[in-house]
Amino acid sequence: MARHLITSAIPYINGIKHLGNLVGSQLPADLYARYLRARGHEVMFICATDEHGTPAELAAAKAGKPVDVYCTEMHEVQAEIAAGFRLSFDHFGRSSSAQNRVLTQHFAKVLAEHGLIREVTEKQMYSVADGRFLPDRYIEGTCPNCGYTSARGDQCDNCTKQLDPVDLINPRSVISGSTDLEMRETKHLFLRQSEMKDKLAAWIDSKTDWPVLTTSIAKKWLFDGDGLQDRGITRDLAWGVPAQFEGAPWQGMEGKVFYVWFDAPIEYIAATQEWADKTGGDWARWWRTDKGAEDVTYTQFMGKDNVPFHTLSFPSTILGSGEPWKLVDYIKSFNYLNYDGGQFSTSRGRGVFMDQALGLLPPDYWRWWLLSHAPESADAEFTWENFQVSVNKDLADVLGNFVSRITKFCRSKFGEALPEGGLWGEREIALIAELATRVREYERLMDEKEVRKAATELRAIWVAGNEYLQAAAPWTVFKTDPAQAAAQTRLALNLVRLYAVLSEPFIPDAAATMLAAMQTEDRSWPGDIRAALEVLPVGHAFATPEVLFRKIADEEREDWQNRFAGTRD
Ligand SMILES: [Zn+2]
Repeated sequence: MARHLITSAIPYINGIKHLGNLVGSQLPADLYARYLRARGHEVMFICATDEHGTPAELAAAKAGKPVDVYCTEMHEVQAEIAAGFRLSFDHFGRSSSAQNRVLTQHFAKVLAEHGLIREVTEKQMYSVADGRFLPDRYIEGTCPNCGYTSARGDQCDNCTKQLDPVDLINPRSVISGSTDLEMRETKHLFLRQSEMKDKLAAWIDSKTDWPVLTTSIAKKWLFDGDGLQDRGITRDLAWGVPAQFEGAPWQGMEGKVFYVWFDAPIEYIAATQEWADKTGGDWARWWRTDKGAEDVTYTQFMGKDNVPFHTLSFPSTILGSGEPWKLVDYIKSFNYLNYDGGQFSTSRGRGVFMDQALGLLPPDYWRWWLLSHAPESADAEFTWENFQVSVNKDLADVLGNFVSRITKFCRSKFGEALPEGGLWGEREIALIAELATRVREYERLMDEKEVRKAATELRAIWVAGNEYLQAAAPWTVFKTDPAQAAAQTRLALNLVRLYAVLSEPFIPDAAATMLAAMQTEDRSWPGDIRAALEVLPVGHAFATPEVLFRKIADEEREDWQNRFAGTRD
């Protein structure tokens, strides 16, 4: 038994996430956590909401709520949706927690003591009427490129041009609308990532087993242009971890907070502390190599946009501290999932968002499609046609049909208990041999976090059982040799239990239904396949389950297609 720490990139607090966000981090992380638990390993699976920063402040203002109240409410919403998708976090934390504040300030202090933080004075837009500096997103004006009158300080939403606030024509404060703005000097803290460049490069080079997507992004940031740059880690904001605190090795940072990219990854550790404070558990044995974490394997899951923060920024914090913190062992990154010929868009209502998906179908339907189409080697695309085919064929025709056929057949001929008599023949021996090969391959792919390929192998394992049942045809054999039909039926009913155990990481609800129908709590992972197909003995009672998966009709598919198409220009 090994110990595995797993973290999913933490979703921003502002708004409901879409299916692309789900498959890019939380869902594959959950798959891996469930698989490792099923194999008997000790797992700590951590996620949280990323709550600080300007977008949260702006969204709260728009909702007419204090930002802390807004974040508390949105955290509850996201936690509920995560539970709806059966994401099995050991803890779903909050980056605004007291634990994260203490830890973020600790890291900043230690990094400064090691000479890795420098103070930089720069000029920034100040609103006289509001009495505060304005972050880029708090400034709006006319785009110098296209004339759009509501361009933001950092970007024009109309022509997508990247902007600097000083570029805007007639700039105004988003807070008050005031145009009484001036450039003033302000001081910020910068993390000297450039000092860490060689150390980071050597560390990345040592990770020869990482996905190319991960290492190529890291190396681009390390070496392209002038190489890895120092980054500002503070902002002129009220909502965040205060940058001026007792014992801070600097002065004059009042009214400033740490920037989210600095405190958000630290929340992985802080969330484990939140878990420990809630449960009485020991967080340090997961995170401190001097306190038991030296034998922990730490795997992170994230979309490709988060790779720079996890390969360079957060490791700079960990390595730069000089303290014995656990460093990530493997970074699994994902490309993007697009929606039906375009992108998901919140503002245009395009695509299926997590709460809407659960309103249409149970979580397993989505989990199966998303994982079996995970955007690993390239961007992937969600289409309703593909979703319909995948659900109807893989889940309903293959797995669902197998379970339904064998339980109904047994009930009608032998009653709802495993029948006695008969012996396995060549067909059964061949099936066992095929399953043995396939299950070992499935394990290998799951160990290597090859999500799509693992789904393909699992499907092949279902198909093998279906084809066996079709060829063995116990309903025909029963007429001439009831004992032989009984042996085949016993094997197939044991296969239902085995399928539940193997499929649980992908489709936990269906797996639970199958185990409940087989009236067993035996979730033991199959070692010897032959033995695994004899776990349920002669006379063991079962209950014929309801339909496991329903099919999606063409009219439904068309209706959903239209409903989520959004407004097009
Ligand atoms: Zn523009």
